[in-house]
Amino acid sequence: MSERSENIVILGAGLVGSLQALLLAQKGYRVRVYDKLPDIRQQAMSAGRSINLALASRGRHALEQADVLDKAESLLIPMRGRMLHNQQGEQTLQKYGSRDHEAIYSVSRAGLVSLLRDEAEATGLVTFYFEHSCDSIDFNGNRCQFSHRDVDLHIDFDYLLACDGAGSMTRQQMQQNTDNATAFNSELLDHAYKELYLPPDKKGDFQLDKNALHVWPRDDYMMIGLPNPGGDFTLTLFMPKTGPVSFASIDNATALHALFDQQFADIKPFIPKLEQDYFNNPTGKLGTVRCQQWYQDHVLLLGDAAHAVVPFHAQGMNAGFEDCVAVMEALAHSNHDWSGLFATVQMARQANADAIADMSLENYVEMRASVNDPQFHFKKQVAFALEQRWPHYFIPRYSMVMFHRIPYAEAYARGRVQARLLDRLCHDIDTVDALDFERVERLIKGSLSPILNET
Ligand SMILES: Cc1cc2nc3c(=O)[nH]c(=O)nc-3n(C[C@H](O)[C@H](O)[C@H](O)COP(=O)(O)OP(=O)(O)OC[C@H]3O[C@@H](n4cnc5c(N)ncnc54)[C@H](O)[C@@H]3O)c2cc1C
Repeated sequence: MSERSENIVILGAGLVGSLQALLLAQKGYRVRVYDKLPDIRQQAMSAGRSINLALASRGRHALEQADVLDKAESLLIPMRGRMLHNQQGEQTLQKYGSRDHEAIYSVSRAGLVSLLRDEAEATGLVTFYFEHSCDSIDFNGNRCQFSHRDVDLHIDFDYLLACDGAGSMTRQQMQQNTDNATAFNSELLDHAYKELYLPPDKKGDFQLDKNALHVWPRDDYMMIGLPNPGGDFTLTLFMPKTGPVSFASIDNATALHALFDQQFADIKPFIPKLEQDYFNNPTGKLGTVRCQQWYQDHVLLLGDAAHAVVPFHAQGMNAGFEDCVAVMEALAHSNHDWSGLFATVQMARQANADAIADMSLENYVEMRASVNDPQFHFKKQVAFALEQRWPHYFIPRYSMVMFHRIPYAEAYARGRVQARLLDRLCHDIDTVDALDFERVERLIKGSLSPILNET
């Protein structure tokens, strides 16, 4: 394939920037990618910052488009459901999907980003520049300024794809350049997170079921655990920043041990460095970014820079990967004419990004509180039964988001109708067998159109 002439710069070599570089190179673009951090392939990631994450169908599809899914498979651990741990230490598996193959996959952030960078470099068209921090962008002049070890550099571009994450410097500059007060919105959640470490046992084996995402739901707060290939788990404790049980109140070893003795007694003996992890690892912020403006001149925001979401639906990376696919689809559609491309990408993605932002916030309540309610489990059973009978009309919302590529906005809208339907069907019965399926079919087909919009 002949090399294309556009001078493309990507800002940010995270998951989204690295995948976007690979996809563009596969279509003949020469790409330079700049990141302020050192290369994770040479220098280990600092502790406590989202070590692993869950890959779902949207992310797998994007990796497939980039021809790297086969190589990524060795990094993935399937998780088929939530393993709920109650206060007494009893464990209950709640399957994610109604079909056996429906799983999400735990993957190491460093492992996946390293693979994407290796593959991008192997095209011969992508060059990464690490420890290059972008300080400013001249939108009219198509030029950005970087500092690299105290040296200032000016880099020209025809098009800049800004994948510089939730705190995006690019977005902040775009915000300064506009009079539209509502174009950009960022909201911090009043909850934060802390990562803890659960090592393998003496033989190197997993100490919990490795094919589940473990959850300790405690209504106002929760802890989750995702498996890593080395037999260990990364635990993440999510709590309010202030209040009776919060990062502000758990500020000494006595309070920390009391919390774990009362609420997480089953797992406490398996966290040998509880105090050290809790007090040394950073407390991570959580927030939502919504943009009505995704681009200015020749600069486009992608991934968290355009739509950071809270991690409770495990969709931030997955949504960012969908952005990359949307860019490639728009390019293919325009026959690689970049004029108008950024507007097309925003049109395709903005409503979906807003929908997953809302669903991610709602899912926090589901994970930490609703799962403690027996009615929630009954409704899930009914939803699975409906899906099995009418899979083209009714797919549980969680499944639409995690196991399908139905646009998020459509999943959100259908999910609302389905929730009302489930309320109606479940309020006076307590077994699936009590459903009057003829009536249910009339109700479903009267309130939901068939699902056609899965690309
Ligand atoms: C606790 C937690 C759990 C999560 N779990 C999941 C999950 O299970 N599933 C899921 O899909 N998502 C999950 N996410 C979300 C996911 O981490 C993000 O959506 C994803 O990392 C976004 O990728 P990105 O490339 O857009 O941004 P980032 O990964 O943040 O990468 C941005 C890159 O830009 C670089 N950069 C920033 N500013 C500059 C600058 N001025 N100059 C040069 N370089 C710069 C940074 O160094 C970084 O490498 C989770 C997030 C958190 C916090």
